[in-house]
Amino acid sequence: MSPDTLAKSAPSAYSTAEFDDYVMTTYARFPLTLTRGSGCRVWDDQGREYLDFVAGIATCTLGHAHPAITAAVTEQAQTLIHVSNLYYNTPQGNLAKWLVEHSCADRAFFCNSGAEANEAAIKLARKYAHTVRNITNPIIITANASFHGRTLATITATGQPKYQQNFDPLVPGFHYVPYNDTEALKTAIAHLDQQQPQVAAIMLEGLQGEGGVRPGDLSYFQAVRQLCDEKQILLIMDEVQVGMGRSGKLWGYENLGIEPDIFTSAKGLGGGVPIGAMLCKSHCNVFNPGDHASTFGGNPFACAVAFSVCQTIEQENLLANVQARGEQLRSGLTQLAQKFPHLISDVRGWGLIDGLELSADSTFTAADIVKIAIQEGVLLVPAGPKVLRFVPPLIVSAEEIDLALVAVDRALTALN
Ligand SMILES: *Cc1c(COP(=O)(O)O)cnc(C)c1O
Repeated sequence: MSPDTLAKSAPSAYSTAEFDDYVMTTYARFPLTLTRGSGCRVWDDQGREYLDFVAGIATCTLGHAHPAITAAVTEQAQTLIHVSNLYYNTPQGNLAKWLVEHSCADRAFFCNSGAEANEAAIKLARKYAHTVRNITNPIIITANASFHGRTLATITATGQPKYQQNFDPLVPGFHYVPYNDTEALKTAIAHLDQQQPQVAAIMLEGLQGEGGVRPGDLSYFQAVRQLCDEKQILLIMDEVQVGMGRSGKLWGYENLGIEPDIFTSAKGLGGGVPIGAMLCKSHCNVFNPGDHASTFGGNPFACAVAFSVCQTIEQENLLANVQARGEQLRSGLTQLAQKFPHLISDVRGWGLIDGLELSADSTFTAADIVKIAIQEGVLLVPAGPKVLRFVPPLIVSAEEIDLALVAVDRALTALN
């Protein structure tokens, strides 16, 4: 995809060229300037309406301008936005209580993003290895094709060389294995622990999001849990993309019949307001005052908004909607796969994180479909070159799912 060509062909009241004169070009942006949103719709500066099946990359849990979020934002902004963690604040306590009561975890730490939540998890696992297991050089095993963030430790944890290139030296203490491969994991642990125990933690996504919407296998995760229990290895689940109801259960790990020792959340947690969290069970809660911190982390503003997201998921029974709309979406995509068998090789996902994989011999990429879908008035995002990802707000309606399917059908027809 060439964003420059797109920028020239699309009209825009806002000069995207001028934007690029001032903002670093770290992103290959689609040439849209979005100005407003409501529910699952957004509008650009030309007044054009789009159905939003990106939701700020699996982030706008309740869509745009949801009254619960607007109310929480307004009320908390009028009350108290930030005080630091030198003091207690009520929204942080409310949010932690809700998350602990609705998960396998016993304690929460708050920060501002997914990468930061994973950094906290990595630090906690390392401290546990040093202080509880006497490991001097702890190793964290992660999966190929994973995604854990863009800080130095989290690009190292990410098992995709394209995110690491030119940023070395990377952080020591990581080792990669193929995803969903129990034998490879057993072999890696046996090899790494040969002289003395070194493996501190295994960090995995329950469903690999950026890596191509690849769900974990039940049998694999059962085996991972068993291996961790046998060897006192901590299981860290990265729930940043799949958590907060997106999978049809509140947490991705619930689809796999296991509980992690540590898990992280961000993206959907704040419904669009930046917040991250790292949660753990009591047995590995080894942080003491001074061990870890974040100035903004857990501020009353972000926590009040995230708490309103949590309450709305419950009050509006959104998990049931995610399950029903997810089934509708996957069945529609399966019909498209039957209509275009030579173009589509797989349909997969959980709840409202679903992927359509293009066959190896299709001559176009997922980004090509995205470009046509934009013209059809639907926003979609690829997950790698050959996978089209569907991550709409959890409030999406049956009619909106059908509209998105029509747009994808039209795009495939045009490209066929
Ligand atoms: C997006 C993502 C992250 C990084 O989150 P940021 O908020 O961008 O730092 C980490 N892990 C997973 C699984 C993600 O999808």
